[in-house]
Parts: sequence; structure tokens; C-alpha cells
Amino acid sequence: MISIASPHIGPEEIAAVNDVLRSGRLAQGPKVAELEAAFAEYCGTKYAVALNSGTAAIHAALYAAGVGVGDEVITVPFSFIATINPIIMVGATPKLVDIDPETFNIDVAKVEAAITSKTKAILPVHLYGQPVDMRALRLLADKYELIIIEDACQAVGAEYSLKRAGKLGDMGCFSFYATKNIMCGEGGMVTTDNEQFAQTIRQMRQHGMTGAYEYAHMGYNYRMSELHAAIAVEQMHKIKGFTAKRQHNAKRMAIGLKDVVGLELPIVKADRSHVYHQFTVRIKDSFGLTRDALAQELKELGVAVGIYYPKGLHTIPHIASYGYSSGDFPVTELAAKQVLSLPIHQAVEDADVDHIVTSVKKLAYV
Ligand SMILES: *Cc1c(COP(=O)(O)O)cnc(C)c1O
Repeated sequence: MISIASPHIGPEEIAAVNDVLRSGRLAQGPKVAELEAAFAEYCGTKYAVALNSGTAAIHAALYAAGVGVGDEVITVPFSFIATINPIIMVGATPKLVDIDPETFNIDVAKVEAAITSKTKAILPVHLYGQPVDMRALRLLADKYELIIIEDACQAVGAEYSLKRAGKLGDMGCFSFYATKNIMCGEGGMVTTDNEQFAQTIRQMRQHGMTGAYEYAHMGYNYRMSELHAAIAVEQMHKIKGFTAKRQHNAKRMAIGLKDVVGLELPIVKADRSHVYHQFTVRIKDSFGLTRDALAQELKELGVAVGIYYPKGLHTIPHIASYGYSSGDFPVTELAAKQVLSLPIHQAVEDADVDHIVTSVKKLAYV
């Protein structure tokens, strides 16, 4: 079976964890600091603050931005639910905007109409690993004095106009969950050039603590462990190869599938790079098989696929309760019916890509 995700655990990761265990220092310490320095340098930001998940990273970024009760945050209904839950966690209201049909990212042309006097921040998602149209978004953010927090959980290393994700907004949020492009099981990071934001997040991840049992504000336990940081440091050494492999696989897959009727390949816009956290195609009516039938048939041919995401988040009850209902976001709703992600990760070899291509073609032409 060709799996849809395959965390890379090499001898270096194992040795690094063993070294931490032998050191006896298990909670936030030198490995976390080493990871933060490496990550900030990689993204080109002044600061990077490690947390224990991507969800914690988004929560901490919203908190540092001062988003709270009565505020609105603009984001999309086509993402993982951890994009929206932190908005609710800080007491703010998620203000949803439909996506662009080509990139699956926020439709920047629809953002301005969603801005009100209560809007405090925009939370764009670089879905599947392709950056949002950040130039257009920055113009709007500047005009209305809004903070941009990138949900870059799927986009480590992706570039827009030669700048990396994490450097494109006021803060960037990353996840090192087991299936992400680089991983440590569970983990997260916020990048920023803003010293105040970085300091607030460092405090917030540790109960709001500023000194020996002194607390500046509310806080959580969002610290990353040394064991996790040690794995992520090793993954940072390998990230270039991981990304190159995903991009190589994507190119081979796109060449193989380019003439399949009813199958739309990923579209990469000018001036940006895609890191292919997912290689997501659309299966249209003209394909012959339905998307769900194709997914099932591929599984039987040894290809595990993913559907990211099968529903718009505006239909999930606790989000719908903000006044949304089915039919509100037609582009999202069509995407939810058509998207299919094919295995593309660093452990997928050329022969695997060829098997995936052959399998899809076999099913397309019946
Ligand atoms: C993975 C992911 C998150 C959450 O990250 P966790 O580390 O699982 O908490 C948030 N947003 C998006 C788009 C993600 O893919």
C-alpha cells in the first residue's frame, strides 16, 4: 500500500532523542532553543517561538495580536478545523470568506467586503503548501490596519516573491504534527519579526510567566519538550531534500496525469513555489467515476488517498452557529465534493508515482 503520509524517522532522529534522554533534560531547554534559531533563520524572520502544536501556535499568535472578545477574524471555511477553533478560543468571531477555485486559498477579491469595524486580523491558510496571494492581502491589511497571521501549517518552505512562508504576514504559524512536511510527532512554531509578539508568545506558552512565579497575563502550558525539539532539529537538516522530493514527485505526477479527462491538476500561480504538503486534484463529472468511487478503487489497487476536506467548516455545528449554513460558500462546497489528494511525500518513489498514474488512468478509461 502506498500511504498518504509517512513520517521520516531516520537514525539521526533516533540518536537525537536518545541523546536528550541521556542528558536528563527533557522539558524546554537547549534543543528547543536550537530549533527556534534554525527555524527563524530558515524562514528569514527575527524570531521563532516553539510550541507544542500548530493549534497552540495559532492560538498564541491570535493572543499576542490582542484578538479577543468582540473582535472578528477573517479566514476560510476550506481548511482543517484547527484554523478556526483558536479564533473561538480567544473569544472572537470567525468571519468566513470563500476560496479561489484555482488555488483553494482565500479569494482575496472577496476579503474587503468581509471587513467591518470589528475586524482585527486576517488568518489566511496556505492550503496544501501553496502561498496565498499575499501582496493583495497586505494592501488590504495596511488600508484597514489589520494584522495578518499566516496559517502556514502545510507550507513550510513555500515561497511567495522569494520570501518564505512565515515571513509573509505579521506572524506565521507552523505545525510539526506527524504527517506534516517536517514533523516531530506533535509540535508547533510561530515566526515573527515583531519583538513584542515574540515575547508575549514566550510568556503565554508558559502560564504568562515573566520571572520566578511572576505572571504578566493569562497563560497556558504550550511548551515544547526537548525530545520533540531534538527530532525537529534533525528534520530541519533534511528539509531541503524532503521538499525537493515532493516537488519532483509532483512534477512526475502532473506529467503522467496531464491528459486525463475530468481530472484537474494543481494550479501553481506565478511568483510562488508550492511545497506539496498535498498533491490535490479535482475529479469532475466528466471523469466517469465519482470522486468517492475513485478513492475506493485506488485503495483496492494499493494507493491510499486523502480527501482534504470533505466538508466546508461552515457546516460544522459550532461554526455554523455564527450564522452560516450550507450554500453560503459555493466554491468551497464544490471543492469539498471534488478534491482528492494523491500520495506525494518524501518516501514516495518514482515507481510509486508511476503506479499511481497507471492506476488512475486505468480507472479513468473504463
Ligand atoms: C495541521 C494543521 C493545523 C494544526 O496543527 P496541529 O499541530 O495538528 O495542532 C492547523 N491548520 C492547518 C491548515 C493544518 O494543516
